[in-house]
Amino acid sequence: MDRYRVKPGSQIDLSQWDPSDKSLFPEGKKKGRKALQALTERLEVLQELLYAEDKHKLLIVLQALDSGGKDGVIRHVFEGVNPQGVRVAGFKVPTPQELAHDYLWRIHEHVPGKGEIVIFNRSHYEDVLVVRVHKLAPPHVWGRRYAHINDFERMLADEGATILKFYLHIDQDEQRERFQARLDEPHKRWKFRLGDLEERKLWPEYMRAYQDVLSKTSTEWGPWYVVPANRKWYRNLVIATIMVETLEGLNMSYPQPEENLDNVVIE
Ligand code: AMP
Ligand code: MG
Repeated sequence: MDRYRVKPGSQIDLSQWDPSDKSLFPEGKKKGRKALQALTERLEVLQELLYAEDKHKLLIVLQALDSGGKDGVIRHVFEGVNPQGVRVAGFKVPTPQELAHDYLWRIHEHVPGKGEIVIFNRSHYEDVLVVRVHKLAPPHVWGRRYAHINDFERMLADEGATILKFYLHIDQDEQRERFQARLDEPHKRWKFRLGDLEERKLWPEYMRAYQDVLSKTSTEWGPWYVVPANRKWYRNLVIATIMVETLEGLNMSYPQPEENLDNVVIE
């Protein structure tokens, strides 16, 4: 999975990253789905262990353009996990109160505590993405934020958080198909906003902004992964694999039970 990790300090060119790549699982969709099932079952066990041990904190950041698949990842990869111990925090257009504060203010309260997994559906990265593309702040303001963000994440990591950041990489053709599907299927229409078409026109600007995010904020303590996301099953498989490998790397163990439990008789 290392091939999808952005090396810290490298300048990346997103046009060189194939959104349709499935090279780590050439067996295809049907087998891919089976493999995902095995991984989500493993994830269920690891999450329970994380919760029981009450020591590590896991922060997952999901970023993508509209229809990139953030919701799908949350539904499919985290299917089996116990909702107790896992939270999703979604970040929308900031409220007036949020805007009255620094941009990390609304983020910080949602970071995971011990034993918790928190998934950010959008994140503080919007403050160098949509804010930059729509000129909601001048360049000297958003330009300083990469360094703030690296420092903020370093602090979280120093205080015990493991951070994984996923950029779901689709191309414009795939987005057209997904938007069309949203229009064609009545029960999907609620997901479509006319404003999404305006955002779509800004594709090159978003690519540039994402490239900077990935190049400037992939760190040892908060690595970015560029996940090929044109194929949903492959996207899920890549993310589930990275999560399982990361959690296994924490060498967790169940807490020591109290002593002398062998002789306990329950009347
Ligand atoms: P959705 O994820 O489709 O529900 O849309 C949420 C919207 O909130 C997206 O259009 C984001 O670009 C927008 N958003 C999230 N964070 C910010 C932010 N910090 N500043 C401005 N817009 C934001
Ligand atoms: Mg949307």
